[in-house]
Amino acid sequence: MRYALDKENNKIEVSFSGELAKCGICDSNVKGRKGEQRIKHWYHHEKKTIDCDDWYEPISEWHLKWQNIFPKKNREVPITNNKVSHRADILLNNGLVIEIQNSPIKFSEIKKRELFYGKKNLIWILNGNNLAKNSILNEDVFTFIKKLTISIPKKFELIENYNFKNVLNDIIEKTEIGYLKSDKNRFRIENENTLVFEFLDDKITDFYLTEAQYKYFIACVYESLYDQIGLDNFRQKIEIDYSSIFEEVRELRLIKKYWKKFIDKMEYPVFIDNLNGLKENEIFYYQKNRIINKNKFIDYYLKYA
Ligand SMILES: [Zn+2]
Repeated sequence: MRYALDKENNKIEVSFSGELAKCGICDSNVKGRKGEQRIKHWYHHEKKTIDCDDWYEPISEWHLKWQNIFPKKNREVPITNNKVSHRADILLNNGLVIEIQNSPIKFSEIKKRELFYGKKNLIWILNGNNLAKNSILNEDVFTFIKKLTISIPKKFELIENYNFKNVLNDIIEKTEIGYLKSDKNRFRIENENTLVFEFLDDKITDFYLTEAQYKYFIACVYESLYDQIGLDNFRQKIEIDYSSIFEEVRELRLIKKYWKKFIDKMEYPVFIDNLNGLKENEIFYYQKNRIINKNKFIDYYLKYA
């Protein structure tokens, strides 16, 4: 552990090897260790176990870097629930616990920690250098270049029980126009009566139909619902527009290699630091598949320190 208590119950770090202090959780004597090999820490020299907190993990530089962002009072804070105590890596004033995870952890441990700290609230920060070393974050860029809109009338006086929603539905469900929704093409309904398709640059030749063909399919749907009454008139009211657009869409994709499956067991928000494909000042919000500016991330949580 990083902090122990001196005689006045001040939270102190090790300043020399052999220094004596008290554990903030179990009150037993602890001794300071400071050397070349490992980061200075306190250990329980009178006990068989090195630490009374069985969730203990050796301190890493990366760990310290994250802890040091927050004031000392928020670092390594003992929390007690039902007479069991653990040291939260960071406990903010609003009760949020930030667990800084540098090394692999068992499924069962995740559950335990989430139950324990989750009573307050919890986020995880993982070290991608250790826990996602072979995975990489990629950005796929899709360019939409064509837009097709098909409108049918909302009202059509020649037919008593005319219902444009039924017609639209059948166009999508029962004609080849419905295939245009496939793959990465985008589809939406605008103003209730307009079908909008947007096509990616490499998908143009496969789908393209002529205006006459679209109208033919729609007329078939109309006919199956209302016979031929007013068919020609209805046909004339169909509006079809085909135009060029240019819209780039970027999509993040985490390519998982030798992926540590325990990460997917974490139910609280997981942020991965040091992930391949991230810039120095970025951190990855795993469940939301989103890159976040690290400074903004830190500023957000520092408000509660
Ligand atoms: Zn202790």
